[in-house]
Amino acid sequence: MQKPYSPRLQPAIVQLLGEPIAQIARTKIVATIGPACREESDLRGLVEAGVDVFRLNMAHGSVSEHQESLDRIRRVSNALARPVGVLVDLAGPKIRLGELPNGAVECRMGGEIRFIRGTQTDRPEEFVTSYSALIDELSVGDSVMLVDGTVSLVVEERTADWARCRVVQPGLVRSRQGVNLPGVKLSAAAMSQADWQHAEWAASAGADFVSLSFVRSAVEVKLLKELLRTRGSLARVVAKIEKREALDNLEDIVEAADVVMVARGDLGVEIDVASMPMVQKRIIRVCQRYQKPVIVATQMLDSMQHSRRPTRAETTDVANAILDGADACMLSGETAIGKHPRLVVEMMRRIASATEEQYVEDRTAYVNNQLSQGRTPSTHSVQDFLPAPDFLVEGLHPITQAVVDGASRIAADLNAKLFVVASRSGVTAIARSKRRGAVPTIGISDNPATLQQMTLYWGVTPLAAVASTDINGLLEQVTAWGLREGKLARGDRILLVAGIGFGTGGHNMALVHEV
Ligand code: PEP
Repeated sequence: MQKPYSPRLQPAIVQLLGEPIAQIARTKIVATIGPACREESDLRGLVEAGVDVFRLNMAHGSVSEHQESLDRIRRVSNALARPVGVLVDLAGPKIRLGELPNGAVECRMGGEIRFIRGTQTDRPEEFVTSYSALIDELSVGDSVMLVDGTVSLVVEERTADWARCRVVQPGLVRSRQGVNLPGVKLSAAAMSQADWQHAEWAASAGADFVSLSFVRSAVEVKLLKELLRTRGSLARVVAKIEKREALDNLEDIVEAADVVMVARGDLGVEIDVASMPMVQKRIIRVCQRYQKPVIVATQMLDSMQHSRRPTRAETTDVANAILDGADACMLSGETAIGKHPRLVVEMMRRIASATEEQYVEDRTAYVNNQLSQGRTPSTHSVQDFLPAPDFLVEGLHPITQAVVDGASRIAADLNAKLFVVASRSGVTAIARSKRRGAVPTIGISDNPATLQQMTLYWGVTPLAAVASTDINGLLEQVTAWGLREGKLARGDRILLVAGIGFGTGGHNMALVHEV
């Protein structure tokens, strides 16, 4: 009798985590942890509602508080047998105001404010900041933006000891709020001493992603990568695009980073807020060309910090980010300090699902229509929603890319119900994710760190491999899972992409399986 076809998989697939997750996600949700959701039961509720990755914002709270949150996330993840990603967000060279007299100062229209050296002042018309070189680096005519750009000053005079500014947009300013200097090139180091310590902690604590705020060049991204690698961490580095200089060096930064964030909070102050929508689209397009996952962040459902319902504009913003090609959407104040963290996650999940459903339907109708008229659909291939990438992501073998592309087409042609990618480092899952295939993707791995990183990849559901070292075992596991979860029925087809030992270096096999 003929033996079953059973080549050995590379890498070997072994049991690591428990039961797989129940939900097939497409657009991923990143939620920021804060006082409103720090308890273990809150975190569990947020994961159940749809959070894929938690952000620990190092600009606030102590390392021990963040360690406690991280421990809770890992416990929740184990209890739910669901991989959850952890993103440690380094503050970077953010400038903050020092203490103001009585905690707040009213900046009146036409009034004068002086930035002075030092760390303290009792006079309401004088401000100190966390950046000691500020006075040296300001010039007459520069804008100084406070309170997220709602209060604005212009530098009128500068001496060795102070910079005198005129208030051109008034408002109340509070202690320790951020200071933005649009267009001013600062000499501040990419990472402060605190950032280095936080990065070292992130490496030792097993963070899945580490982000750097206020990135200006690719060198800064490489510096953080180097630091993490020398500490034995495989965390993916996220470049937060929130400065005009980053836009000037965008291609190099995207190429150097593993993941990119459109950090609209600060970016919307550093550049003209009116150009924000088109800049968001440009950043996402570059990420698509370089096959880098991209997160769209800040004020996505801002009004839900207080309200139980979002505005129409907010729901449209989330949907448009997904249509632009965002892999993940991020919640900041909404989950960290808002009144309804769980409701807001549920709302984001609902908007994403509604958008994806209609998107898939419209694209399928368009492609079928083009094909029925004997035309080639305008995208790279029939199953694609976004244009083909121009560059291979680091570690992605050209054979793997070609096999993923071919298999994606086969999956669409055969109306497969699942697309399964066996992946050790996760790059094959990224390649598939960036294709925006309509067929749900399972990223199967024996590496817990890879599973946790897959939580950020659009359309990829991470699944821990159980004890099996061959393709038949792998298919059995996926089939059993799919039947149990209601994702598969008898007769359904599965596409599997894996590497088998013929020494090509890439994932060289695409297999169709009928349940
Ligand atoms: C942003 O500015 O949009 C952002 C995400 O950064 P942070 O929340 O750290 O200010």
